[in-house]
Amino acid sequence: MTTHGPADFAGQHITVAGLGVSGISAARALAGLGAHLTVVDGGDGDKQRAAARELTEWAAAHSASGKGGGGRRAGITVRLGDGDTLPEGTELVVTSPGWKPDSPLFAAAAAAGVDVVGDVEIAWRLRGPGAAAWLGVTGTNGKTTTVRMLASILAAEGLRTLAVGNIGTPIIDVVLGQGKDGEPPYDVLAVELSSYQLHWAPSLRAHSGAVLNLAPDHLDWHGSMQAYAADKGRIYEGNTVACVYNAADKATEDLVREADVEEGCRAIGFTLGTPGPSQLGVVDGILVDRAFVENRQQQAQELAEVSDVTPPAPHNIANALAAAALARAFGVRPTAVRDGLRAFHPDAHRIQHVAERDGVTYIDDSKATNTHAAEASLAAYEHIVWIAGGLAKGATFDELVQKSASRLRGVVLIGADRALIGEALARHAPDVPVVDLDRTDTGAMPEAVREATRLARPGDTVLLAPACASMDMFVNYNKRGEAFAEAVGELTARDH
Ligand code: ADP
Repeated sequence: MTTHGPADFAGQHITVAGLGVSGISAARALAGLGAHLTVVDGGDGDKQRAAARELTEWAAAHSASGKGGGGRRAGITVRLGDGDTLPEGTELVVTSPGWKPDSPLFAAAAAAGVDVVGDVEIAWRLRGPGAAAWLGVTGTNGKTTTVRMLASILAAEGLRTLAVGNIGTPIIDVVLGQGKDGEPPYDVLAVELSSYQLHWAPSLRAHSGAVLNLAPDHLDWHGSMQAYAADKGRIYEGNTVACVYNAADKATEDLVREADVEEGCRAIGFTLGTPGPSQLGVVDGILVDRAFVENRQQQAQELAEVSDVTPPAPHNIANALAAAALARAFGVRPTAVRDGLRAFHPDAHRIQHVAERDGVTYIDDSKATNTHAAEASLAAYEHIVWIAGGLAKGATFDELVQKSASRLRGVVLIGADRALIGEALARHAPDVPVVDLDRTDTGAMPEAVREATRLARPGDTVLLAPACASMDMFVNYNKRGEAFAEAVGELTARDH
C-alpha cells in the first residue's frame, strides 16, 4: 500500500473544481499545506464573485501572516466563467460532488494524465501513520442515521470517535485537525460515504464497510444503476475485518462478492429475521449477534432490545444492526452496543414525532426525498394520511403506491410533480381519497396539513414522507419539515 501524508501536497499545482462549500474547504486545506491552488467554476454570477473575493482575501491574509499551522502558504487563484478547460500545469484535480463524471474538465484531465479525486480521497491520503481507522457506511438511505448510531456505540465503548459525513466538519478538516491543540487523536471514525465520494476515492481502504441498501437514486449523475451500484461497492475494497451487507437486499451481497478485500476479511449480513451464522438479526424482540461470537454455529450473543432503538421502525432496526455489525467488527463489547443505541436520538426530519392532536399523530419524515425512503416510513404505520409530492427527480411511483395502498386513509398531494403520484394512486389505489393541492407557494403546507387532518381519524398518523425533493417549494428538506411542524402547531379545533 502506498503511504501518503500532508507533505505530498506541498508545492503541487492543484485545480479544485467548484467554488461551493466543499471546494472552498478543500482549497483552504490544501493551500494551508503549501499547494498552489486554482479554483475553477463555470458560473460567474454575484454569488461566485463574492465567494471568490472571500477566498482570495483569506489566502492573502494567511500567506502574509503565516497564520494557522505555520506551514508554507501558497496563493489561491480563482477562475470564474470557465469550468471546462484544465489550467496549465495542473498536477491533480479535486472535484466537488455536483460535478458529473462526464464533465469536460475531467476529460481534459484524463487526456493530460492527471488524476481526478474527491474530498474523501484527499482526507484518506492525508492520514499519517497510526491514524484512526475508518468504519464506512454507504447506501441509498439511512447513512447519516447509521453513522450517528455507530459513533454513539463507539463512544459508549469509551473510544474517541466522531461521526463524519455530509453534516458538521468537512472530512479533510477532521483528518487535518487530528491531535491538534493537545487533543488526543481519534481512535476510530464513523464515516458516511456517498456514491459520489466513493466514485472519486480510488485508494480508500476502510477497516470495515457497510452498504445498507441499494435503490435507484442519483442515476442522472452516475448514468446507470450499474454504475451507481459499482460506486457504492467501492466501500468494500480493501476492507480488513468485515464487509457488512443487507441480507434482504441481494444487490448489497453481490457487491461483497465482487470486492477485492484483504485476506481473512469476512462477509457479515444483517437481517430483520433470525440470523444465520455470520449474521446479526432479531429474535423475539432482541437484536442478536451470530457473527462475532466464539461458536457461531450454536451460539448467539444478545446485544440490545428492539425498544432500545429510536424510532423502532423496521428500517431503523436494520440501521441499528448495521451499526452494531461495524462496531462489533471493531471489537466493541455487546453492552456498549446497547448503551450506544439507547443514547442515540435521530436527527430532525427523519420520522420525527411532531405532535399528537385529538388522537392523530403527526410525523415529519421530510428527509424521505426518494421513493425508497418513503416506502420505509409508510411501512412503519398502520393507518396513514400521506402528504406527498415535490420534485420527482425522474422517479416512478407505481411500486411505492402498490406496496402502501392498504395503509392509506387518504393522500394530500403537493408540489410540482404531484400528478405523477396522483396517476399512480388512480391506477393502484382508486378508492383512496386524494386531495390535490394545485399550488406550490409557501401557503401550501398549512393547507396540506389542514386537509390531511380532515381526512384522519383518531389513531391515524399524518405522515409527511414526500418521496420527492423539496426544492420546488422550499430551500431544502429541513425547511419543508419546519413548515410542516409549524402548520401542525397552527391547527385549531375547527380543523378536526
Ligand atoms: P441518508 O444519509 O442516506 O440520506 P438518513 O439517515 O438521513 O439517510 O435517512 C434518509 C431517509 O431515509 C429518511 O427519510 C429515513 O426515514 C429513511 N431511511 C433511513 N434508514 C433507512 C433504511 N435503512 N431504509 C430505507 N429508508 C431509510
